[in-house]
Amino acid sequence: MSRTVWDVHHHWVNEEGYIERLLATMDRLGIERTGLIAMGDFVPDLFLLHGPRVGCADNEDLARVVTAHPDRLWGWGYIRLGRHVPEDVDRLADLGMAGLKFHAPVRPYSDPQYFPVYEKASRYGMPCLFHTGIFYPPTPMPGEGINSENYRPIHVEPIAHEFPDLKMIIAHLGVCWNDEAAALCRICPNVHADLSGRVDGWRSSRPIEWFSQLLYWPTSHEKILFGSDVHADEVETTLEDHERIFSRMGWSADRIDNVLQGNARRLMGM
Ligand SMILES: [Zn+2]
Repeated sequence: MSRTVWDVHHHWVNEEGYIERLLATMDRLGIERTGLIAMGDFVPDLFLLHGPRVGCADNEDLARVVTAHPDRLWGWGYIRLGRHVPEDVDRLADLGMAGLKFHAPVRPYSDPQYFPVYEKASRYGMPCLFHTGIFYPPTPMPGEGINSENYRPIHVEPIAHEFPDLKMIIAHLGVCWNDEAAALCRICPNVHADLSGRVDGWRSSRPIEWFSQLLYWPTSHEKILFGSDVHADEVETTLEDHERIFSRMGWSADRIDNVLQGNARRLMGM
């Protein structure tokens, strides 16, 4: 297998030996680097497959493994907008995080009260990965203000205007708001997207023609990144599913290579 892959969207699953499992999977599949997220006590049971939960990996744990494997992993420092404060961006930069991951903001991403966070990210040159689309946790989270309307892709538009140097990735191509997400990728120079998610998730309902129609503009292959967003054991089938979609769309090997690693390499500046 000659492909080289960068996975821009992978969550640390709180299982015994998970990082070793992930690194072994990366070796086997030709994944050179993975952007890793650890959300601490926010959805600690995410993607559990093997046995009971062990630990509750947070930004500090992530900093440790990224420091131990700097040529294989980079860290997306997790920020919950509305709970964390702008100074947390300084702390995450000090920890060596390459970028920021936002999930479940209390108010819409576009709320001006979050702009100091984006301003700091822009100043540090930290790309930002935004969860977009419906989010329903494994167990309901009363009192946490979960509201997927806040995670619509269109909310990144004002951020793109205000912070033209801030590189942004819309995760899951918006899930249920794909048109919005694709239009933003096409029109805003600093907006990109990943198509991450399980093989039986949102991508599975769509025929190839749908992807071709959505990503119709000639340079769309410069805006799409590979992200897994599944357990390490499911990365292989998710990666194969991405390759199936792009090759059936008729994309050249060069275009597919952009999506699998070139765009991520440029975006992360590594
Ligand atoms: Zn995610």
